[in-house]
Amino acid sequence: MAILVLGGAGYIGSHAVRELVAAGRDVVVADSLVTGFAASVHPAARFYELDIRDGAALDALFERERIDGVVHFAAFSQVGESMSRPLKYYDNNLGGTMSLLESMVRHGVNNIVFSSTAAVYGEPERVPILESDATVPTNCYGQTKLAMEQMMAWVSRAHGLKYTALRYFNASGADPSGEIGEAHDPETHLIPIVLQVPLGRREKVSIFGGEYPTEDGTCVRDYIHVTDLAAAHILALDYLMDGGESDVFNLGNGVGFSVKEIIDAAREVTGHAIPAETAARRAGDPARLVASSEKAKRVLGWRPKYTDIRAIIETAWRWHREHPNGYVSAG
Ligand code: UDP
Repeated sequence: MAILVLGGAGYIGSHAVRELVAAGRDVVVADSLVTGFAASVHPAARFYELDIRDGAALDALFERERIDGVVHFAAFSQVGESMSRPLKYYDNNLGGTMSLLESMVRHGVNNIVFSSTAAVYGEPERVPILESDATVPTNCYGQTKLAMEQMMAWVSRAHGLKYTALRYFNASGADPSGEIGEAHDPETHLIPIVLQVPLGRREKVSIFGGEYPTEDGTCVRDYIHVTDLAAAHILALDYLMDGGESDVFNLGNGVGFSVKEIIDAAREVTGHAIPAETAARRAGDPARLVASSEKAKRVLGWRPKYTDIRAIIETAWRWHREHPNGYVSAG
């Protein structure tokens, strides 16, 4: 029996595939390659280029492969774009998930682990954030992820399918091998943007907002290493297959770092001065997002290995230094 990874050519998906293969699982990857990269697909995985909105293509895959669990990363994930093009997000994230669940129900595939996000919480009532806290997304991306969770819950009640929604905080870092890593076009995430300065691809970093109600006035986030996220997917899959109930889990380190602290840590790791200047706030940014991941630790037995922000940035630095053009130059 195989595990189907949808979006397995993307940033987090490619790391999850690597961990699954390393754990000896038989892995099938499907990806539209709209935002993913063929070069990031693990050679041990059987690869299907398809869009999950294409129900016939999914049906054909489920008929050909013997799939007993699905890990679903296939979604658009840029907050800013989701605000200017909301229907693109409804179409892909919700339309894609609907088509996927229909096909899973048709083929009796009952276990799914999928990517949710801290963006479902919006401006948090308190930190660290618990899974039971209010979910009031402040952007369309978070709204579509919350609606995906709700879609799973109703389908679960009606058809017996079981799911775990993993609410990631700030995914960061890269596989320590330096072979796969983060590559977005355009890049919007803080750590890769900061590392573009020592790579000579950007002169300085713009700090989005310097007067937030935090210690140094810049936004605080919980950065969690992508390999730790990948490990959580395997635990969540095994949990479902061992009879665990559908559930929702936060995945973060439980420690917040400000934008300025991230830039300082990157200066230490790279030995570069990394000039930075304060700029306007970015719309929809909460001041502080920090996870409580006690539930994932207790129920799934998850233990993040990368708890030091410098070690996280070190892995990202290795990837970007060796692949300054992402997968374009990966060969
Ligand atoms: N950020 C910044 N400058 C940048 C990119 C991001 O100051 O060039 C800030 C952003 O406002 C947020 C934090 O860095 O407070 C993390 O942003 P990112 O886009 O990496 O992740 P998000 O928290 O939005 O998921």
